[in-house]
Amino acid sequence: MLSTAEALATLLSAASPITGTESIPTLDALNRVLSADVISPLDVPPMNTSSMDGYAIRTEDLTTDDNRRLPVSQRIPAGHAPEPLKPGTAARIFTGATVPPGADAIVMQEQTEAAGNEVTILHSPAPGEWITAQGADIRNGSIILPAGTRLTPQALGLAASVGCAELQVRRRVKIAVFFTGDELTMPGEPLKPGAIYNSNRFTLRGLLEKLGCDVTDYGIVPDKLDATRATLREAAQAHDLILTCGGVSVGEEDHVKPAVEAEGRLSMWQIAMKPGKPLAFGAVRRAAQQTDAATSDETFFIGLPGNPVSSFVTFLLFVRPFVLRLAGMQTVAPRALSLRADFTQNKADRRNEFLRARINAAGGLDLFPNQSSAVLTSTVWGDGLIDNPPNHAISVGETVRFIPFSELLN
Ligand code: AMP
Ligand code: MG
Repeated sequence: MLSTAEALATLLSAASPITGTESIPTLDALNRVLSADVISPLDVPPMNTSSMDGYAIRTEDLTTDDNRRLPVSQRIPAGHAPEPLKPGTAARIFTGATVPPGADAIVMQEQTEAAGNEVTILHSPAPGEWITAQGADIRNGSIILPAGTRLTPQALGLAASVGCAELQVRRRVKIAVFFTGDELTMPGEPLKPGAIYNSNRFTLRGLLEKLGCDVTDYGIVPDKLDATRATLREAAQAHDLILTCGGVSVGEEDHVKPAVEAEGRLSMWQIAMKPGKPLAFGAVRRAAQQTDAATSDETFFIGLPGNPVSSFVTFLLFVRPFVLRLAGMQTVAPRALSLRADFTQNKADRRNEFLRARINAAGGLDLFPNQSSAVLTSTVWGDGLIDNPPNHAISVGETVRFIPFSELLN
């Protein structure tokens, strides 16, 4: 059996970023991954600006108590270029406006008394007070977003703040997905005896779409060798990864395994984890003439177990980082929290358990009572997974490693 760490390391060592890139409007770039650094062509702010409504003054003009009354020599709203500040005067200024040359501090209006065309300054500012210096946020020429960054709304705002109208990104990762199992029925169809609904199709589609992938969903492929091989061959042409669900357990009467072996190569893994355990990793050969921006001559294959919680958890722990690496991201590990267990779990398992739990009002963790890999309710009830090492029982008050779904579902 492989440890979870060994399985992840093997997957990640095989995943190198896809090669195709494109330039797209910044407005359309949410969730895409940068293929080149974004370098600022300017200082932000581009000039010294006032961070208050008030008066721009020269601190050296306020050295004695009898010269605190200054004539107001100009008015500077935001977006207007000021004149240099005349010595011995104040300039009325507003938030975001350019500080006039010669002024070295802003006095906020609450600390002044205006009368006619004069203002009395009631405070002795330090030089630089309430001035945001040119380049205080961003320096001209600095890397503001490195290649490999996934573009959040904040990152788009940052790129726009330096005037970037277009961004260089990698193309989306293309993923084909299909499902096997004669028991599977689509919602909307009547459920025959012995059948179940194909819930994994909905979960996996959602997970892949959240990662920003281009998904081709072949639905349920009939459990026949020829049909499975044909689907694999077709999917291999224009995708980076083929993902399937079901039929990777030992002794399974299923055609995915022989079909992948016939069309490429496959390793059947047993991972010391719960839920999960079986995972298939391999590749399907691609016909020579087809390229579609892909340089490799094969398409990766990952076969997930069929149990709904197993496929969800193995996706989050293995497929997610693998896909993010293909997408060009360097940092793919979720950040975990150290939280207090507000429950006891006496029974230690020899496998690395990923327990569905949620954060309670006291900031500790509650455990979902039924941890069976078929109980999908636990994944909706929970807000994350406790990463419990092998052979480890958990006692009340103990600090455990908790990986929030918010880290795993983006
Ligand atoms: P398997 O990995 O094919 O042995 O399936 C393990 C269990 O997961 C069985 O109870 C299957 O019925 C169930 N299962 C397989 N595929 C799906 C699916 N797409 N949606 C819901 N349950 C599934
Ligand atoms: Mg099956």
